[in-house]
Amino acid sequence: VILLGVETSCDETAAAVVENGHLVRSNTIASQFDLHGKFGGVVPEVASRRHLESINPVIRQALEEADVSFRDLDGVAVTYGPGLAGSLLVGLMAAKTIAYALDIPLFGINHLEAHIYANFLVAPDLPFPLLCLIVSGGHTDLVLITRLGEYRLLGRTRDDAAGEAFDKVARVLELGYPGGPLIEKLAREGDPEAVPFPRAYLEEGTLDFSFSGLKTAVINYLDRARREGRKVAEADVAAGFQEAVVGVLVDKVLAAARVHRPARILLAGGVAANRVLARELERRAAAEGFGVTVPPPVFCTDNAAMVACAGYYRYLHGDSSPLTLNALAGLGLGCE
Ligand code: ATP
Ligand code: MG
Ligand code: FE
Repeated sequence: VILLGVETSCDETAAAVVENGHLVRSNTIASQFDLHGKFGGVVPEVASRRHLESINPVIRQALEEADVSFRDLDGVAVTYGPGLAGSLLVGLMAAKTIAYALDIPLFGINHLEAHIYANFLVAPDLPFPLLCLIVSGGHTDLVLITRLGEYRLLGRTRDDAAGEAFDKVARVLELGYPGGPLIEKLAREGDPEAVPFPRAYLEEGTLDFSFSGLKTAVINYLDRARREGRKVAEADVAAGFQEAVVGVLVDKVLAAARVHRPARILLAGGVAANRVLARELERRAAAEGFGVTVPPPVFCTDNAAMVACAGYYRYLHGDSSPLTLNALAGLGLGCE
C-alpha cells in the first residue's frame, strides 16, 4: 500500500511517500524559516502564499525521490487541522484534487494525531496503553492512548506551549527562529545550574503545565542584567531555561506513568526533537521500569511521512474522508 502524505498546517510545505505505513520512500520538506525569521514567528498570510508556490514542486519531488508516479498511489493522506486556515487549505485542495483525478481514497488527518503516529512510523508494533507527551509549537498535551484512535487527555498547558516558550525565549535572546534548535545548541555551551529559573508545577496532583511564568522570568532576568550593565552569559540562560522546561515535562510524564502504568511512553511534536528532553525522559523512565519511544528529529517536527503513516491505519480500516472535507483550524484530538 503506497500512500502520499501532504502537510501544510503551519510553515512547512511537506509531502512524503510511505509504503505500508512505515517504509518512508521519500520525505520532502520546504520550510519557510527565511520568510518568517525576521518577524520571529509565522505570519499567516505570508505562509499561505508560500505554500501555494511550493506545494506542486514539493509533491513532484516527493514522488520523484520515491520513484513512483501518481498512478502507483493507493491513497492520499492530508492534514485538515488544527493549524492556520489559509495554510491548511492549500494542502487540502491539492490532496483532494489528486484523490479526485486518480479516483483514490482521501484521508483527512488530524495534525496532532499525525505527530503521535510519527512513533508508529518507526515502531509499528507499539503495545497499548501508551502514554504520549505531545510537545510542539502550539500544544503541550499529556495523552493516554488506550487503543488506536482512543485518547484521554490527562493534562495540558494552561498558557504557552513548550515550543512557543522556546521560540519566545530565543526571540528575547535574539537567536532567531525557530528557537528550539537554536536554544538547544547554545545550551550545550552553558551551565544549566548557573541561573535557576522557576518551575511551575501548579496545584498538587494536576498534570497541567504552565510556561508563561518561566518565559517572563527569563525576560525579567535579561532586563535586569541589561539595566545594571551586567554582561549576560547567554548560554547559561539558554541552558537554565531548557533545564527548567525539561524538568517539569519529565516530572509530569513520570507522575502520570506511575498512575496509569503505560506499556510504553511516547514523545511527539517538534520539541521532541530536543535531545536533552529525549535523553532525560529515557534515563528517568528506565529507572522506573518504563520504556520510551522517541521518533528521530526529522519525524518530530512537521513532516508528511507521519501524516501518511496515520493515513495507512485509516486505509486498513477502510475509513476514508469525503471530498467535501473542509479545513478545521481549531480541530482537537477528540479526547474524552
Ligand atoms: P502544532 O504541532 O502544535 O500544531 P507546530 O506544527 O507549529 O505546532 P511543530 O512543527 O510540531 O509545531 O514544532 C515546532 C516547535 O518545535 C517550535 O516551537 C520549535 O521551536 C520547537 N522545536 C523544534 N526543534 C526543537 C528542539 N531541538 N528543541 C526544542 N524545541 C524544538
Ligand atoms: Mg513549523
Ligand atoms: Fe506540528
